[in-house]
Amino acid sequence: MHAELRLHEDRLFPSDPDQRAVARRLYAEVRELPIVSPHGHTDPRWFADDEPFSDPTTLLLAPDHYIYRMLYSQGVKLEELGIPREDGGPVETDRREAWRRFAENWFLFRGTPTRLWLDHVLHELFGVRERLSAETADRIYDQIAACLAKPEFRPRALFERFGIEVLATTESPLDPLIHHQKLRRSGWKGRVVTTYRPDPVLDPEATGFAANVARLGELTGQDTSTWSGYLAALADRRRFFASLGATATDHGHPSAATFDLPRSECEALLGKALAGAVMPTEAERFRGQLLTEMARMSLEDGMVMQIHPGVHRSHNPSVLRDFGRDRGADIPVQTEYVRGLKPLLDRFGNEPRLTIIVFTLDESTYSRELAPLAGHYPALRIGPAWWFYDSPEGMRFYRERITETAGFYNTVGFNDDTRAFPSIPARHDVARRMDCAFLARWVTEHRIDEDEAREVAVDLAYRLAKRAYKL
Ligand SMILES: [Zn+2]
Repeated sequence: MHAELRLHEDRLFPSDPDQRAVARRLYAEVRELPIVSPHGHTDPRWFADDEPFSDPTTLLLAPDHYIYRMLYSQGVKLEELGIPREDGGPVETDRREAWRRFAENWFLFRGTPTRLWLDHVLHELFGVRERLSAETADRIYDQIAACLAKPEFRPRALFERFGIEVLATTESPLDPLIHHQKLRRSGWKGRVVTTYRPDPVLDPEATGFAANVARLGELTGQDTSTWSGYLAALADRRRFFASLGATATDHGHPSAATFDLPRSECEALLGKALAGAVMPTEAERFRGQLLTEMARMSLEDGMVMQIHPGVHRSHNPSVLRDFGRDRGADIPVQTEYVRGLKPLLDRFGNEPRLTIIVFTLDESTYSRELAPLAGHYPALRIGPAWWFYDSPEGMRFYRERITETAGFYNTVGFNDDTRAFPSIPARHDVARRMDCAFLARWVTEHRIDEDEAREVAVDLAYRLAKRAYKL
């Protein structure tokens, strides 16, 4: 007899009985609300083609760098998980074998959000009732595979079953958005929108930058070797993205530095960047200038701007060389916002019509920088606890550090930021439970009345994301 897989009704709620009772009542108000997912990285092709997901490994392991990261840290080779090598070298091609490797290491995920999310997926979506382990791996694999063969497990059916009201994907300005166009034509009522992520054409240190900018010129008929043509091309692609539902842009720069440089310097920097001759400090100035330009364009076209800096991407050079990007080797770096954002805020911070959502992986900035900034500038909002902090303790810390300065209404609700489609309900459920747990403590400390807490809980779970992202 194997250990049972159970989801406790009170998971993540306070153990204090008074607080727990309030948390239960608040959660009852939000648990069934539709999911608004304004930022994520699912593949629009899934919804455009609506083909069945092929197998459990491809569905649950392949898109999830949280899983790779932990297994790799404990000596599991990425080849054993079937991740293709850049040099085409041999890797595990049997999906079931890769699943077994994962299952026998399931204990490594104890105490991590991955464990919470995947237990939720296995239990709620696939009806699994025994704990994943080396012994149960094959049985659970077969159970999931049998589900995936059924029509009710196709992408669109799952989208509807999950109660997703709107889901945003993320694409490069060079993307022709064929899947989004197909979705528009399909007549399906599920709402999937794109997001404008221009890093490949804004970052002189991005792979193939000059070729990317040349391609941007071809797509738009602009001369992108000139500063004015380059900006016009960026604006043109924003309009194209907006025509396919985009309401937001997304900027994953290494830092939050912004600049407001004279035009002559912008022109010179673009020339150097296209020639591949920028120094790192110049690349930083160029990217920072572009954030300010993006804010100006947002004011004109109404798109919400997201800035999530502070990640050293692909920290491990041998993993980058052998397996490419997004393999779990991204590490947070210390991030500064107060001086960094100032040039942009000097120009646009007082614009209530502009919304700039700032994320962080540097928790020390919540109370010292982000809450005071967002608690003052009308254009600024704080994004949810993100990535490494998309976790119960991360969310608790986030609310504790920012609420007294920025309140609830300078935040923008939750976003799951995930590539792992089946985990979306699980991730939103964790956020809803943690927000209810936080509010329950404040209710029992008589810092907020329960009727107000109920309203806040609904705002955090649903209304704030819709409003902030204009969805
Ligand atoms: Zn993201």
